[in-house]
Amino acid sequence: MTRAQRTRLGVLGWPVAHSRSPAMHNAALAELGLADWRYQLLPVPPQLFEQTVRALGDAGFAGANVTIPHKRAALALADSASEAARAIGAANTLTFADGGAIEAENTDGQGVVEAVDAVARGSLSRGRALVLGAGGSARAAVWALRTLGLTDVAIWNRTPARARALADDFDVRAVERPAAADVLVNCTAVGLSAAADELAQLGLAPDLLGECALVVDLVYRDAGPTQLIDTARRHGARTIDGLQVLAAQGALSLELWTGRAAPRETMLRAARGA
Ligand code: NAP
Repeated sequence: MTRAQRTRLGVLGWPVAHSRSPAMHNAALAELGLADWRYQLLPVPPQLFEQTVRALGDAGFAGANVTIPHKRAALALADSASEAARAIGAANTLTFADGGAIEAENTDGQGVVEAVDAVARGSLSRGRALVLGAGGSARAAVWALRTLGLTDVAIWNRTPARARALADDFDVRAVERPAAADVLVNCTAVGLSAAADELAQLGLAPDLLGECALVVDLVYRDAGPTQLIDTARRHGARTIDGLQVLAAQGALSLELWTGRAAPRETMLRAARGA
């Protein structure tokens, strides 16, 4: 089967039933007039991940997104990987090339770059940045901030040793407590389910958010904005929510697979469930 004949796409995760990617990508495929293409959920447990991925090309898949907990495994099994995927140490996008080769990309980082650039328009390069969290998405965020030209990047994490390890990898700073910054990026799981003390869990005083020019929250949930986004808006900061980042990374993946410009507004509307 050649690449031109492969019109299936999907998202590999475990669990993955909650993913908004099928709605987002199928809306984009329809708008592009790619009537034969479909994007589906691919729930697969870790022990079956590699053999499932290796079967996808012959099953008609042009590519797949990869989410928790498979992103590191996706990079490890790929035949080639982009510089971004290697630097971040994980892949969220696989492409199945003719001849069976698997190519790995990470659009999470570039999605943050694109979302921030759309709002800040190159004005942030001399600012200070603070990343909350030290897991997989924090690695992508630190890569993105460095790519945007920010050199003063601090990392805070609930478990300080993980913040120090991440800071060492990217030659930035780990901090003991969150401090004021021009750009703040939440890469923790705090906010996934609504709680009265979301800011407290992040060690953030509401006033500190008023000192931020831009607050980015990778987290999104079904019912309204996270407390972080809501409080940042009320304190006058510009904001980017998790669905804007999701749509940006999805658009970049779709462009890799189809070679077509992705309809970003349609993807964001579909991700929001509109
Ligand atoms: P991960 O690797 O599991 O890392 C989770 C991070 O959250 C760790 O730093 C952890 O701190 C921290 N954390 C968890 N519970 C906490 C709490 N109660 N208080 C303070 N910190 C807490 O996860 P990930 O892949 O980086 O993803 C993080 C979040 O980003 C998830 O909600 C995910 O859905 C979201 N995400 C969104 C997008 C998007 O496109 N919008 C893309 C990727 C990820 P410890 O080290 O102390 O455990």
